[in-house]
Amino acid sequence: MSNDHPDRATPARAELEVDVGIVGAGLAGLAAATALRAAGATVAVLEARDGVGGRLRNEMLGGAVIADAGGAWMGAGHERLAALARSLGEHSFPTYDVGDNVLLLRGRRRTYRGTIPRLNPVVLLDLLRARRRIDRLARRVTADCPWEAPDARRHDRETFATWMRRHVHTRTGRELLAIAGRTVWGADPNELGLLHVLFYVSSAGGIERLFDTQGGAQQDRFAGGAQALATGLAERLGGAVFRSAPVERIVAERGGVRLVSPRLSVSARRVVVAIPPALTARIDFAPELGGMRRQLAQRMPLGTLTKCFALYRRPFWRESGCSGEAVSDSGPATLTFDCSPEDGRAGVLLGFVGGPDARAFSRLGPGERRRVVLGGFARLFGPAAAAPEDYLEASWADEPWSQGGPTSSFGAGGWTAYGPCLRAPVGRIHWAGTETATVWSGYMEGALESAERVVAEVLAEGPVAGAARGGPGAAAEERGVGGPGQGRAADPAGARS
Ligand SMILES: Cc1cc2nc3c(=O)[nH]c(=O)nc-3n(C[C@H](O)[C@H](O)[C@H](O)COP(=O)(O)OP(=O)(O)OC[C@H]3O[C@@H](n4cnc5c(N)ncnc54)[C@H](O)[C@@H]3O)c2cc1C
Repeated sequence: MSNDHPDRATPARAELEVDVGIVGAGLAGLAAATALRAAGATVAVLEARDGVGGRLRNEMLGGAVIADAGGAWMGAGHERLAALARSLGEHSFPTYDVGDNVLLLRGRRRTYRGTIPRLNPVVLLDLLRARRRIDRLARRVTADCPWEAPDARRHDRETFATWMRRHVHTRTGRELLAIAGRTVWGADPNELGLLHVLFYVSSAGGIERLFDTQGGAQQDRFAGGAQALATGLAERLGGAVFRSAPVERIVAERGGVRLVSPRLSVSARRVVVAIPPALTARIDFAPELGGMRRQLAQRMPLGTLTKCFALYRRPFWRESGCSGEAVSDSGPATLTFDCSPEDGRAGVLLGFVGGPDARAFSRLGPGERRRVVLGGFARLFGPAAAAPEDYLEASWADEPWSQGGPTSSFGAGGWTAYGPCLRAPVGRIHWAGTETATVWSGYMEGALESAERVVAEVLAEGPVAGAARGGPGAAAEERGVGGPGQGRAADPAGARS
């Protein structure tokens, strides 16, 4: 590395040449860097935030208890994630789900066991039929190309809300599915294309798996918090990870691509962009990306999701036989879980506020938000819930380098119009990140699967190792090649080679 133009008045920008440059130090970017390095390539990971992990972040409650502000659970069958945790020595443990779950609907509180609340038989049957129907439709959607599914166009013309209006016949059934969706996608049913829901269910292997604790997506947690997986990977990568280095420009060069951030400029033979599609709109590509790829960034918004944590001296709800899991229509947290430490030395309740609820919630002041969340917890678990030792919120819409969570979703029409652009490399630029996954898209497992796929894609283009050419002088020599207006508009990296 050396300084670029030290005689200029602007701050010096370090220069680096590697085989593969990676944008984003979330799980996908870090896992891709790790695998590429294992294949003999030199890598540089540029991360906008001052820490790694992206949508994974450990926060502290009461100064002593880890809270997963972002992604938390490892689901059943998340094999890549389990293998990564094992390799890093990160301990996982089952989510506490012993006892009764609580359902608070139209002011009436009742308890139930399992995933589906004990409701009147008409509602129960309605929900079971809806789930079966979704699974049946999802089985016909292959997660790697949903736009080619039989009936893809017909499904993509409608939203999940319009589908529910026709196929879920009870108001309670529709409400419960909407509540679940606000946490799973951070979106209301009318924001979600039906084909997107079917893709998502297909990539998870069934709708039950999205909602379930045991046997589903919420099965296990990490004792050291999920971010520890990212920090563990970053530690192994050492000096190849550059924090506080937002990539502002991606410029085609002869035989390569340059990543430009305020503190660092990286020349690479190939680039992996491992960020949510919407975030690519923050980067200037030269030459410009093609119109469809640019519109993809506008058509796949991230959800709106806020996690609210309350810390108690002990998990007191367990003493009255409650699991801490609850569904409530009065919110603002409409789904809750017990996120206490494994040994139960303290009690932690987590409440999700998602979709339109999260947007309304964000308009309240901090004191009011805390008051209404704790009021909701007290309605579910008793007055003790109103007086926690500590309280914490994480609003992902307010994160400039995530712009929402937990993941991005297509609305109606999105998959058939823009799906084919999602993973298709643009010249020497390859795309990764959980949104591009075909297995457990939207989850940490999906981020890891996307890394596996992108690494295979990069390596299939020919040997990448040994690309670092000359020193900084060589990089300077290539500056300006393939700038705006050069090359094909849809191919910012210029000619493929
Ligand atoms: C509230 C919430 C709850 C969730 N719960 C779960 C869960 O329980 N289980 C589960 O499996 N998953 C969960 N998820 C989803 C999971 O966190 C994500 O699927 C996964 O972390 C995505 O990883 P990624 O690497 O694809 O993307 P990200 O984690 O988003 O990483 C992208 C990185 O790129 C960086 N970046 C963006 N733009 C630039 C730029 N221009 N230059 C440089 N860097 C840039 C970002 O700062 C970020 O670090 C949850 C997410 C949220 C937000």
